[in-house]
Amino acid sequence: MEINLVSDTVTKPGHEMLQQMFRAKVGDDVYKQDPTVIELEDTVAGLFGMEAALFFPSGTMANQTAIKLHTNPGDELICDKWAHIFNYEGGGVAVNSGVSSRLIDGHRGMITANQVHEAINPPDFYHSPLTSLVCIENTTNKGGGACYDLQTLMEIGEVCKANNLKYHLDGARLWNALVAKRQHPKQFGELFDTVSVCLSKGLGAPVGSLLVGKHEHIQKALRIRKIFGGGMRQAGYLAAAGLYALQNNVGRLEEDHRRAKQLSVFLEQLPWIEKVEPVETNILIFSIKPQYSEAALVEKLKQKSIFISSLGRGKLRIVTHLDYKEVMHNYVLETLQKLTF
Ligand SMILES: *Cc1c(COP(=O)(O)O)cnc(C)c1O
Repeated sequence: MEINLVSDTVTKPGHEMLQQMFRAKVGDDVYKQDPTVIELEDTVAGLFGMEAALFFPSGTMANQTAIKLHTNPGDELICDKWAHIFNYEGGGVAVNSGVSSRLIDGHRGMITANQVHEAINPPDFYHSPLTSLVCIENTTNKGGGACYDLQTLMEIGEVCKANNLKYHLDGARLWNALVAKRQHPKQFGELFDTVSVCLSKGLGAPVGSLLVGKHEHIQKALRIRKIFGGGMRQAGYLAAAGLYALQNNVGRLEEDHRRAKQLSVFLEQLPWIEKVEPVETNILIFSIKPQYSEAALVEKLKQKSIFISSLGRGKLRIVTHLDYKEVMHNYVLETLQKLTF
């Protein structure tokens, strides 16, 4: 039994999801003739109360498309210093859109309206780049699955409106936030110009993300997706997995959150632990005392078939997911208890 807690992207489609994929009605989605892709796009747009949605092969492409859609070369976007779009999308912001990033020193990957306000360049001061977009991440990846209060997001939205800035949400793990905070997608649809969501993380689909927004934005996104090479043909097989995931795997995220929380409480009382960061969703970041080696811990767990990731500087990460079951959870707790350095 291999227990992979490196990421929630490691899940594999189960029997029922595969059955739904096999049964999918498909067509050529580049000609907009795949009924299952259309059904998925309409379903997700409806969930958010937004006009339209577009299916993408990855969350990175959905975010990069949104950034290109909302900016012109030479512009600047505002995001937290830990943002996925800045740290983990290969510098795509600069390559694809010719845009610079103004990084905010936020808290656990989250920023405030005041910080955004202070980071905006005066629009008529032509020496500095024109600020045109604010990107939010919810839940935060590097921030350990932290989620925003709606109030903060509304305040940032006000700053965006007052300063004529577009407002994009990288919601790769928004489903986790919705479940943890008991929020509704429509509350996010009302606030943002565009929202990206992933189906291939907590929801357990093998592939797929969507970008949601107004008709006008999604129409433009279609052209950008084409340029990025993201048009897919009989993508309905993948969309079917996404529909299955939305129907069956959202509510159960609560289980992932419970297990991550239990792991955090458990870790806190172990003698070799320095600090466990607060757990709100399915990501758990902790550090071990300086006299112990991170690499040694990763290796010891590996020998017990438990895989976790090391983030450097004494920090480690565990991510719970659909394929991490109760028996595995009990085994991990037992193994951690017995572990000696
Ligand atoms: C995973 C992730 C993405 C998109 O990742 P892909 O691997 O390209 O699907 C975007 N933003 C955040 C915060 C993520 O965690």
